[in-house]
Amino acid sequence: MLVDSHCHLDLPGLSENLPQILELMQKNQVGHAVCIGVNLEDFPRVLALAEGHPHILASVGVHPESTDVREPTIEELVKLAQHPKIIAIGETGLDYYWHKDAPEWQRDRFRVHIRAAREAGKPLVIHNRDATSDLLRIMSEEHAGEVGGVLHCFTESWDVAQQALDMGFHISLSGIVTFKNALAIKEVARRIPLDRLLVETDAPYLAPVPYRGKMNQPGYVRYVAEEIARLRDCSFEEISTATTDNFFRLFTYATTRITQ
Ligand SMILES: [Zn+2]
Ligand SMILES: [Zn+2]
Repeated sequence: MLVDSHCHLDLPGLSENLPQILELMQKNQVGHAVCIGVNLEDFPRVLALAEGHPHILASVGVHPESTDVREPTIEELVKLAQHPKIIAIGETGLDYYWHKDAPEWQRDRFRVHIRAAREAGKPLVIHNRDATSDLLRIMSEEHAGEVGGVLHCFTESWDVAQQALDMGFHISLSGIVTFKNALAIKEVARRIPLDRLLVETDAPYLAPVPYRGKMNQPGYVRYVAEEIARLRDCSFEEISTATTDNFFRLFTYATTRITQ
C-alpha cells in the first residue's frame, strides 16, 4: 500500500470526481491520501472530505502564498488540530517565488504554525520555494525539530535535504522526480535514507510522467514510487512499504503523544 502524503482534493477538478479518484487509488494500491488545508475559510470543506471518507486524512494551516485570507492564531490552529483526522499542521512555510519581496508576514505566519504544531504535538507540513536559508533558520530558531514533519514537494539540493534530515525532518518527493531534467531531485531520491522518505502527488498539480501536463490525482503517486525504485535500483514493494511505514510512524507518533 502507498500513501499520498500531500494533495488538494477539495479543489475543482478533483472534488467533483471523488468516486473515480477513490477507485483509481484502490486500483493503484494507494490506501490513504492527505487533503492539505491551505486557509481557514476553506477548512470546513477539507475536514468534511476527511470525515466523509475513511481513506482521506487532512491537515490544517494557512499557505504561505495566500493573501486576502484570515491570519490564524496559535490557539485556533491547536484547537482545529485536535480532531482525530487532522494529522498535521500546514501547509505552512515560505514562498519567495510568488512574493519576491520576502515579506515579514510570511515569516510571522510560519512561526505561528511551528508554535501551534509544538503545542498540539502534531507534525508540520512545510512548503518552500526560493526561501531555503530563511526557512531553515526559522525552523531552527523555533525548535521545529521537536515536533518534526515533512518538507513537501522537495525541489532543493542534497545539501539542503541533509540539513532538514539533521533537524529530524522527513522529505517528500512529488511527480517532479519523474521529469527527465530534474537531475538534482533524482540525486536526492537516490541518497535519502529510506526511513525518512515520503511520497506525494500535490494533486491537482505536478502530474508525474506519463501524465505530465494533465490533471494529477492521488492514484498517480504510484508513478512517483516506481521512479524512486528505479533510481535506487530496488523493488517497488520496498519503496511502498518504507514510505507507508514512515508516514504512519511520523503521524501516528504525534497522535499518540497528544492523547497521553
Ligand atoms: Zn506546497
Ligand atoms: Zn500543497
